[in-house]
Amino acid sequence: MTASSVAPTAPLSEAAAPSATLERIAERERKYLLQTYSRYPVVLTRGKGVFLYDIEGRKYLDFVSGLGVNALGHGHPRIVKAIREQAARLVHVSNLYYHEYQGLLAEKLCTLAGGSSGDGSSGEKFRAFFSNSGTEAIEGSIKLARLAGHRSGGEAKCRLVALEGSYHGRTFGALSLTGQDKHRKGFEPLLEDVTFVKQNNVEGLRAAVNDNTCAIVLEPIFGEGGIYECSAEFLRECRVLADRHKAALIFDEIQCGLGRTGTIFAFQGFDVTPDIVAIAKPLAAGLPLGAFIAKEEFANAIAPGQHGTTFGGGPLACRVALEFLSIVEEEKLLENVNKVGAYLRDQLEELVKKRALATAVRGRGFIQGIQLEIPARPIVDAGLAEGVLFNSTQDTVVRFLPPFLLQEKHVDKGIRVLKKLLGKKQKPAA
Ligand SMILES: *Cc1c(COP(=O)(O)O)cnc(C)c1O
Repeated sequence: MTASSVAPTAPLSEAAAPSATLERIAERERKYLLQTYSRYPVVLTRGKGVFLYDIEGRKYLDFVSGLGVNALGHGHPRIVKAIREQAARLVHVSNLYYHEYQGLLAEKLCTLAGGSSGDGSSGEKFRAFFSNSGTEAIEGSIKLARLAGHRSGGEAKCRLVALEGSYHGRTFGALSLTGQDKHRKGFEPLLEDVTFVKQNNVEGLRAAVNDNTCAIVLEPIFGEGGIYECSAEFLRECRVLADRHKAALIFDEIQCGLGRTGTIFAFQGFDVTPDIVAIAKPLAAGLPLGAFIAKEEFANAIAPGQHGTTFGGGPLACRVALEFLSIVEEEKLLENVNKVGAYLRDQLEELVKKRALATAVRGRGFIQGIQLEIPARPIVDAGLAEGVLFNSTQDTVVRFLPPFLLQEKHVDKGIRVLKKLLGKKQKPAA
């Protein structure tokens, strides 16, 4: 044995040792990380299916899926196999060269969005661009909408319409579209060409959209904003106005898309087809990958060299995304989302009926939320102690974004814990 192999080496081995406690890990992050996150006090080390395990071996039922990313749960054998195989063959080539998977993934997504089998000829024709994240998919979408707008209406056709309470990401473009002061504050000036409209306010929408509008951008279901759905009437009016004024209707399906609502694209459950759709979170089963897909008449506004990325759409991420989509299909996961999502809905409605502290259920499928009369964070903290991961948003909403594999018995467990937590709180008030 050499001296170096027995010497107590620094951080790496320390992190793997049993003494690597939550406190030590948190202390190191407090010292060395930009302080942007307020994490829950748990160190997760592995996962299997709908369960996660912490550094002490405690087990948690996962209703969060890494914010909607781990739609196949954790450690799905086919995903593990695809990553292993592709990592050994080719991880990255840049967009200077072809690889086998980007075109296949684009074909798959465009066909799914076009609503037709085969080459998409009987439905809408779409084209895809791959990014690394949701916010980048939004950036690309609005850049494309600007190009198309300038082409059809000159320099003045640059204005964007977005919704109050929305969330589209943290880069300057995406942040400019985000209708929440808490995210915007301190970063001004942002893009000045954005008009905000109240969700589902048709009159406000009509007043905001005109010939200088190049895009209307919205989440069909607000995710970070507290699980509020756009009404069918509002979305139809968005479609009419976008057509009338030659603006792009852009759906941000980064959180609600790719199966979470029970259809592969959320817009397919709302009967309105957007011109551009941004997707990301679950696309590559945990690897960073985002995309936007655009109808041909907008897609052809861009020329080689006008947009690009070094990492986006690499062979590893694209191959895994193809595997993700195959698994959703072959394991009939949309059916599961619809079935268990309806069950979750019923159970939450029941909770609202019986617990004064919960007042409303919103959302559908595996993107749902319950509105509380009290701050949600203590409920989430208490859930953690009970071995269930919930998530809160907008202070008073408990949000459910479970893996598509979730079963009724898992819902029962989550509901049991919520009942206990909400019940306890109710007594002093009664
Ligand atoms: C998460 C999210 C984004 C941003 O995606 P990132 O991958 O975090 O950049 C944008 N829009 C919506 C609706 C989201 O939920």
